[in-house]
Parts: sequence; structure tokens; C-alpha cells
Amino acid sequence: MKRPLPLTTQILLGMGLGLLIGSLINNFVIEHSFVATYVVNGVFYVLGALFINALKMLVVPLVTFSLIEGVNAIGDAGAVGRIGCKTIFWYLLTTAMAVSMALAVASVVSPGQNFEAVINHTAFTPPSAPSLNEVLINLVPGNPVKAFADGEMLQIICFALFFGIAMLKTGNTGKKMAGYVSMVNEVMMSLVSIVMRFAPLGVFCLMAKTFSEQGLTLIIPMLGYAFTVITCLLLHSIVTLNLLLYVNTRLSPWIFLRKMRPVYLFAFSTASSNATLPVTLQTVEKKLGVHTGTASFTIPLGATFNMDGTAIMQGVATVFIANVYHIPLTLEQFLTVIGMSLLASIGTAGVPGVGLIMLAMVLNQVGLPVEGIALIIGIDRLLDMMRTVINVNGDAVVTCIVSDSEKTLDKKVYQTIEGNYD
Ligand code: ASP
Repeated sequence: MKRPLPLTTQILLGMGLGLLIGSLINNFVIEHSFVATYVVNGVFYVLGALFINALKMLVVPLVTFSLIEGVNAIGDAGAVGRIGCKTIFWYLLTTAMAVSMALAVASVVSPGQNFEAVINHTAFTPPSAPSLNEVLINLVPGNPVKAFADGEMLQIICFALFFGIAMLKTGNTGKKMAGYVSMVNEVMMSLVSIVMRFAPLGVFCLMAKTFSEQGLTLIIPMLGYAFTVITCLLLHSIVTLNLLLYVNTRLSPWIFLRKMRPVYLFAFSTASSNATLPVTLQTVEKKLGVHTGTASFTIPLGATFNMDGTAIMQGVATVFIANVYHIPLTLEQFLTVIGMSLLASIGTAGVPGVGLIMLAMVLNQVGLPVEGIALIIGIDRLLDMMRTVINVNGDAVVTCIVSDSEKTLDKKVYQTIEGNYD
């Protein structure tokens, strides 16, 4: 009997086919109402949304139980605090590096300088961004049930952490309970694998719908901006993150990239770090050899807290909008962009399009016209897909660095090539 294609290859095929069919529909048949209603907004939409829901269905229970298991696996509250501090340090550092590099590259490339002819003043009303006070207060859920129901990631993390620490302090009862939690986790991981079986079809539908509606032509008038964002995303992931990984752990970035492939495909097609979370968690634990104690904390935290790709977009977009409106940026404004991108990425969830909300916050603070966002909305979905890949990549790199520094990364598992998703 012929062996089926490896899952990663199937997902890749689904993605390529979706892109192709979506672009063809966009170019030739989208105006036929039958295609728009029954194919794009019918089959593609329903199957794609079902797949995203199936992924989202996993997130809250997976984060909760794996975090509780993780704290118990670490076995001491002090160590949990240490891992937390290291993780936050690395997340802030990598995001700051990302946005600083983006500002530097964008200042050199200077996208948007000859753009005035195309300025369209479509009013863009930015949704309100959370303030720092709100972000801090909202860390602790007043009502954990509500936090779970609303999928408030930082609040869930906070509750699960406290719960896990309380279990540690409860002696035997806590230990017994930890056994059950770890059983639930095992079952959850197997559920992740079941959902992933549907990934090729889900990814195909998501890609086909996006490209039927967006098409590739949208990118042409915005080529300068898109090119700068993409260059910075590549520089950050290929140079900065790989270097940090290698210098801090001596682990091979090549193996890392190879094993992370399915995660990249998920991130690209869902444009959501949150929806990708189950796959990221499974990959870093099972394929990269990171101990549950570290991964269960760093990955969910990273999905909300760490957005290198989004920060890059904000840096480039700020320079782009400043150029379009002929507003020269001062050093102080550059520093404000860095600070604001960091703050903005902490309080917002990893879901599609959230980068634009954060950008509104940044532009406001720097004193640039927020309606400039209207210029980049058109191609934002495409760039969102790409920056989400870099967002989850950053989470996984930091996870490996922290785990290695805690001596909880199993290098044998990391180096084993078989047993990959293939
Ligand atoms: N979609 C991104 C994510 O989920 C966030 C953004 O940049 O809009 O990570």
C-alpha cells in the first residue's frame, strides 16, 4: 500500500492550492454571485471557520491544564517566578530589537515618500486601545469563570499559575490532583493531533477565502511598504532570532526551522497566534524537547505578550505614514514608538488584525494622523499572516532559550529528526 503524504506536505499543498484557486477566483469569477455566495462565503467560509473554531476550542483547556501541570512539574514557586522573569525579559528584549531594527530599516528605505497622489482620506476610526493601568488591573481576573468564558488569556494564565502554586502548597492532595491534571493533558494533546488531521482541508479553505477576496493585486500600489515590512520580518527571524538561539543555546537553528514548519503554516493560514497555540505547544514540547514546566508557561504567555512581527509592522508603518504626511520624526518619537510597541503588545491578544489596533495606539502617542491607517488596511491581511509567523517563531525561540538556561531542554529530542510531524 502507498504511504500517505506526510502531514506537513499535505498542509503545504492545501495552502498552495488555496492560494492559487483563491487568486484565480479573485481575478476571474468573483463577480458571479453564485461563486461569491456558495463557494467563497459558503463552502470556504464555513469549513475555514469550523477549522479555526476547532483550534480555538483547544486553547483554553490546553493552556489551563498544561500550565497547572507545568507549575507542578517545576515543583517550586521560586523556580516558577524565575522562569517567569526570564521569559518576560526575553520577550521584551526581542520585541524591542524587532521594532528598533524596523525603524532603522524603514528610515533608510523610506517607504511612502512619493505617495501623496494616492492619499485617500477614508476616515478610519480606531477602536480604543487599552491603557497601561487597565492592562495591569486586568491581569487578575475578578471572576475566573468569566475569564474562561471570554478566553482572556492573561487572566487565565494568572489564575492557572496561582492554582498550580496553591496545589504545590497543598501537599498530598495537590500531588494526587496533579496526576489527574496530567491525564487530562495527555488527552488534550491527543485531541490536538486529531484536529491537525483536518488541517490540510481547513488551511485550503482559509487561504482560498482570503485570496478570493483580497487577491494578490492589492499589494502592488503598496509595494514599498510591504517590501520593507517583509524584509524586516525576514531579517528578524533569519538573522536576529536564529543568532540569539544559537549563541544562547548552541542548538541548531536549522533543526529548529525544520521542526517548526507546521507551526509556521498554521500561523500563516490562521493569522492568529492564539489559534496556533495548540500546535506551537505540541511542537516545542514533543519535537523540540522543551519541558512542559517551561513550555506551558512561555508559549501561552508569548501568544499574548510577545509580538515581534507586529512590532515590526508598527515600526515600518509609523515611518511610512510619517513620510506620506511629510512629518519628520524626531529621536524622541522613535523612542516613543519603541516603548509604545512594547506596551501595546503586552495587553492585546494574538488574533487577526489586532496589530492595526495597536498601531492606532502608537500613532496617537507619537502624534501622527491615525487615519493614515486607512492607507495600509488593504494589504494588512496579507502582512498579518506573515507577521503572525514571526510572532510565534519568537515565542518558540525564547522558549528554547529559557528552557535551555533552566537545563530542562532535552537535546536528544531536539536533535532527533524522525518523529517529526512527517
Ligand atoms: N495576527 C497577529 C497574531 O495573532 C497579531 C497582529 O499582528 O495583528 O499574532
